[in-house]
Amino acid sequence: MRRIEAGSYYSYLPEGCKLCRKGAKLVLFVTGFCNNKCFYCPVSKAKFGKDVVYANEREVKSVRDFLEEVELMGAEGIAITGGEPLLKLERVREFVSIAKKLDMHVHLYTAIPADEEKLRKLSAVDEIRFHPPELKSPDAYVEPIKISKKLGMDAGFEIPAIRFEKRIVEIVNETNAFLNVNQLEVSESNWKHVVERGYSVKDYYVESQDSRGVVKKYENANKFHYCSARFKDVAQFRRRLIRMAMNHPEFYAVTRDGTIICCRIEGDLDLAERILSDWGVEYLRFEDCIETSADIKVEIREALKSEGLKLSLVERYPTSNRVVVELIEI
Ligand code: SF4
Repeated sequence: MRRIEAGSYYSYLPEGCKLCRKGAKLVLFVTGFCNNKCFYCPVSKAKFGKDVVYANEREVKSVRDFLEEVELMGAEGIAITGGEPLLKLERVREFVSIAKKLDMHVHLYTAIPADEEKLRKLSAVDEIRFHPPELKSPDAYVEPIKISKKLGMDAGFEIPAIRFEKRIVEIVNETNAFLNVNQLEVSESNWKHVVERGYSVKDYYVESQDSRGVVKKYENANKFHYCSARFKDVAQFRRRLIRMAMNHPEFYAVTRDGTIICCRIEGDLDLAERILSDWGVEYLRFEDCIETSADIKVEIREALKSEGLKLSLVERYPTSNRVVVELIEI
């Protein structure tokens, strides 16, 4: 087994996971519709049961929104998830076709043991990950795994480490599939159900002697990968932030965590733009504010303030929703 960041390890790392580890995978939430009710479902109440599309944090109302997100993070691949993506098969096909035109790797999650007709429609997908809801009826996925492989996809199971299901390991080894086991993450949407079932929660994930024992048993799969909850923060998410931060204009300062620091200007934005242009200062304009360098000269700062504009030093995520970590008025 090869050990990597934050307690994750593998004997086989699917291509989609390699890109995810680099922070180069865009997560495409293709619909909140799903017919299952897994007790550990991580989908937020705001999205579950709603037919919404998100590319990372960005709501996608048109293909353009998707492409903007691809560009912002310099995506090299997409992970199609939901909800249940196959309930919106044509939508999935449309995004797969765009991604393939951009030469991106595509992996897809589904809980549906799809038949050959459906899988043929998805044959442009590079990798398919089947998730038996609550690990029930794994045998239903034997044929879909075989067909997916025959169609040229890499195929396997992706499951949360809720309990050991021996049949999953057997199927993986019989079909030369891969097995991704995820540490169960706890969020607002699943906390109550996870605790009710007696799992020990530490910080925002399930961690106990029992859960480690469960993962250990899955190591008998020939192509095995364990992904810890912390891995998602320290590797995947942080690296995606850094990629996004580096794609911002140079006047943004980038921190080690991948957040960016700038000066935010609020108020009459047309006036602010005129002042900044007169001084030859680089900036970005958003609907609610203008951002420019945190090292803006004192004279320019004073010129802006004397016109009633509000200035703040801001540390924020480089994501499309521009989540603020810290704001100090100056
Ligand atoms: S299949 Fe996935 S989206 Fe649907 S309820 Fe289960 S965990 Fe949630």
